[in-house]
Amino acid sequence: MERHVAIVLAGGKGSRMQSEIPKQYMKIMDKPVLYYSLKCLEESFIDEIILVVGEKQEDYCQKEIVDQYHLKKVKKIVMGGAERYHSVYAGLNAIEKADYVYIHDGARPVLTMDILERAKQEVRKSQACAVGMPVKDTIKIVDVQQVVIDTPERAKVWQVQTPQVFAFPLIKEAYDQVIQNQIANVTDDAMVVECTLQKKITLVEGSYKNIKITTPEDLDIATLYLSGSES
Ligand code: C5P
Repeated sequence: MERHVAIVLAGGKGSRMQSEIPKQYMKIMDKPVLYYSLKCLEESFIDEIILVVGEKQEDYCQKEIVDQYHLKKVKKIVMGGAERYHSVYAGLNAIEKADYVYIHDGARPVLTMDILERAKQEVRKSQACAVGMPVKDTIKIVDVQQVVIDTPERAKVWQVQTPQVFAFPLIKEAYDQVIQNQIANVTDDAMVVECTLQKKITLVEGSYKNIKITTPEDLDIATLYLSGSES
């Protein structure tokens, strides 16, 4: 039997949200942002969820989210670290047994079964994949003075989302190397694998609705996407 484990990240401070409350705990239709992706994972083929939270947030998450919404697959709540990759590492170290690991931003509430299913099919084939979508806008690369130095061909540019899904030994090895060699400035899990193991990552189709709550207006957009899917 394959074992699928999800790491859900909720250890960020969300400084771009201009709010005292971290974005993952702000409310959408009376429920915390974090609830929605946990609920989707709870109802999916995922066997176990490890929730990574900020310092002193363990009790709040246990009582107000996990117990409150009867999320039985959340088996551990662990404390994250200063940067996203530290939080992922804390999650990886809490895994006892897994074949595949699904790393998901708790700030992305519009996760769906279809996305999880597509990622599962791909990771079984290639061992390393991330969810994303082709960009709609033309992307420019600029220098420090904001002068354009390159315009990549749009058809080849994708925006990367989560979940990012890997065979457990592969992602553990990649993160061990990043931490041991103190490689900083890694902003997603695919990049950790790219810069340590030189392993190719396949992108699978996510959804334009799979947004990350970053600034206040994102809450309104997520509310629109989530209304109707909630009973
Ligand atoms: O800050 P950013 O939007 O990139 O965060 C993406 C996800 O990673 C969020 O769900 C956030 O809570 C989480 N995170 C974390 N630990 C950090 C920073 C971010 O778990 N130190």
